[in-house]
Amino acid sequence: MNKTELTQLISKNFDYYQTGHVADYIPALAKVDPKQLGMAIYDLQENHLIEAGDANVRFAVESMSKVPVLLLAIKDNGIDHVFQKINTEPTGFAFNSIMNMEINHRKHPMNPFVNAGAIATTSLINGKNAEEKFDRILAFMKEICDDPAITLNEEIYQSESRTGDINRSLAYYMKGNQMIEGDVPAILDTYFKQCSVNVTAVGIAKLAAVLANKGIAPWNGQRIVSEKSATIVKSIMTIAGLYDESGEFSVHVGVPAKSGVGGGLLAAVPNRYGMGVFSPALDSFGNSAAGIQLLTDVIQELDADIFE
Ligand code: GLN
Repeated sequence: MNKTELTQLISKNFDYYQTGHVADYIPALAKVDPKQLGMAIYDLQENHLIEAGDANVRFAVESMSKVPVLLLAIKDNGIDHVFQKINTEPTGFAFNSIMNMEINHRKHPMNPFVNAGAIATTSLINGKNAEEKFDRILAFMKEICDDPAITLNEEIYQSESRTGDINRSLAYYMKGNQMIEGDVPAILDTYFKQCSVNVTAVGIAKLAAVLANKGIAPWNGQRIVSEKSATIVKSIMTIAGLYDESGEFSVHVGVPAKSGVGGGLLAAVPNRYGMGVFSPALDSFGNSAAGIQLLTDVIQELDADIFE
């Protein structure tokens, strides 16, 4: 696929933003212009990146941060320790639901890509205080997105923190049930900050390319994460990357992916492509409405459904 073809698919799918709404439970996200659609594709075979539309617009990473933070938690603690604390099962519940822990007889959050599991993941990041933990997360995101310009969006962070009571309830529930250790306000502060980092579809495509390329950055050949952790993360993306829309997405699109309520989507097609998409209007599950449509067309065009 070349830039012209990608541009055409963006034009074809642009109007799907009308079927969604920007996230309004976080006030700073409610102000984002819904009329945006962009995509970047890192082709591993050709070792080059194409981008079109709003692929360089900065937007809040939100739940896509759950992917690099899980990778960093694995680097810090090892695979076994992380998955003793956090399970790897689909939930069937919304991303901020507490139900996954109430019904789970194993007494752990059910996966790292719902909020409870992600907060538990954040609690495992090394660092002597919340500031040092966030600095390490930010440095890792810059490295894996190959984007030194990533910063904390202070307005989104304040908004997340002010309206984050459901996340607080999840964290205190876990602390009260000995599912997490540490200072809950400090863990939540780090979690709110990791969600409020400004990325682009280009940077997200590069992160996805590392996952698709067995943990090695294709742009310089350096290993960023282990092959095993890249494999595990892609598996969890397949069962839980789009919350309670993950099954439908797997059936219709068929690639490991992760969404965020900022309108981002990251997709990693093993050994072939890393993809980043941005369009801020969301469907009822909290996933980018036009982004999913565009990704569906691109995957079809590239014959990249991993289950085919
Ligand atoms: N910061 C958001 C929250 O915790 C992230 C959720 C999301 O992107 N689905 O509610």
